[in-house]
Amino acid sequence: MWILGIDTSCDDTGVGLVQDGRVVANQVASQTLLHQHYGGVVPELASREHVRVIDGLVEEVLRQAGLGVEKLDLVAATRGPGLIGALLVGFTYAKGLAFALRKPFVAVHHLEGHIYAALAEHPEVRPPFLALVASGGHTHLFEVPAWGVYRLLGATLDDAAGEAFDKSARLLGLGYPGGPEIERLAAQGDPARVPLSVPLQDQEGFSFSFSGLKTAVARALEKGHAPADIAARFQEVAVEHIAQVVGRAARKTGLTTLLVTGGVAQNQALRARLQGMGLRLCFPPRGLATDNGAMIALAAWHTLGRCSKSNLHLPAAPYLPLATS
Ligand code: ATP
Ligand code: FE
Repeated sequence: MWILGIDTSCDDTGVGLVQDGRVVANQVASQTLLHQHYGGVVPELASREHVRVIDGLVEEVLRQAGLGVEKLDLVAATRGPGLIGALLVGFTYAKGLAFALRKPFVAVHHLEGHIYAALAEHPEVRPPFLALVASGGHTHLFEVPAWGVYRLLGATLDDAAGEAFDKSARLLGLGYPGGPEIERLAAQGDPARVPLSVPLQDQEGFSFSFSGLKTAVARALEKGHAPADIAARFQEVAVEHIAQVVGRAARKTGLTTLLVTGGVAQNQALRARLQGMGLRLCFPPRGLATDNGAMIALAAWHTLGRCSKSNLHLPAAPYLPLATS
């Protein structure tokens, strides 16, 4: 079964092609350069850029797979959450394509896409599992008892993990996105030189909190600590915080498989820390951790039994919770 997946939730246009759960092609047009002068994503510019490039990306993935468009069995697109103007481009394009081809259209939740990206190289994994989405806008820990069923165990109380990396990087005078920049600088620093404490260490639940960490980075800078040392300690503490919450969730639920997804899943320090916890870990392969279209097609593939084809009248939704229970 050939599934085309489209994601235009924010500032990347992602189009991917999946055959029977295997990623065959994946193209992402990044808008980072377009928005960097403005210090953030400009929604109207993002929408216009999606419109400009989406058709070419669809043609490109079909060309890479040597597939005629009429051979597609299903078209999937992100319904939300995201910037409404940006979402509408990919969502409407996908509906139009499905309608023209007389093929089913499936609406996918963006976080569902992130979650199933972790299964791209682990097709044998089955629920139940834990899924941590640590991205630019979310830090959500789900229990997934069955395909397409999501119980929210905990989420961030303030900033998302990726957002904390981005904001701290900015304070340290580094570029955007901040995650990879901090990871690079941290390798040259000594975390022991900067006193930052792990957030929410005594909680019973599964909440995350990163905004205090960002403030602590600002204070450490004021005190004259070296940026590399601050980066090293920030990363160590952020990673430790995530590991502690995840460890508690694994103990409480008894689950032993953990999917880690979203841009922060690319962080090598996080991967190394989680490796030592005795869990079976699934990470997205390179290129599938951040926003892309293949993850949307993968989500449609894995949840196909549950979600029948979506109604073409379904609207895009900028605010859309994922938890089903
Ligand atoms: P959302 O899905 O919540 O709307 P998003 O799609 O913008 O957010 P992603 O594209 O999944 O987020 O991830 C981008 C985030 O991941 C950025 O905040 C970036 O700094 C962070 N990130 C990327 N690489 C790394 C890394 N190596 N270490 C830490 N963080 C990273
Ligand atoms: Fe995302």
